[in-house]
Amino acid sequence: MAERLITIATFNDVTEAYILKGRLESEGILCFLGDEHIIGAHPFYSVAVGGVKLKVTENDEDEARGILKQIWQGSTNFDYDTIDLAPPDAAEPPPVEQVTCPRCGSTDTAQRPYLLDALFGDRYECHNCGNRWKP
Ligand SMILES: [Zn+2]
Repeated sequence: MAERLITIATFNDVTEAYILKGRLESEGILCFLGDEHIIGAHPFYSVAVGGVKLKVTENDEDEARGILKQIWQGSTNFDYDTIDLAPPDAAEPPPVEQVTCPRCGSTDTAQRPYLLDALFGDRYECHNCGNRWKP
């Protein structure tokens, strides 16, 4: 048997309706919005059509109303134990290639930009003695 949809909240603003719909969906509650498109296109019609309606099935009504009540009471109690946070980015940066100048032995060297490399055929440049060479 088909379940009835119950309007559990109305909003003048489409954005607020989307946010709360997403919140309820994250709890596994199937939600629908009514009149979202007419109000999205013509925000001044919001009052005339009674706002954007947030609807849930009869079976989810009590749970959904409970979640909205918590939100409207200003609750920010998230259960962090059940949220999978991204692991910290512990990857080490790749080691910088240390190139030694074959003329003076300095490590104050740099790889030349690709365009200059193509024009002059040098790949590395020594900042100490000005030597340029290919490895
Ligand atoms: Zn050098």
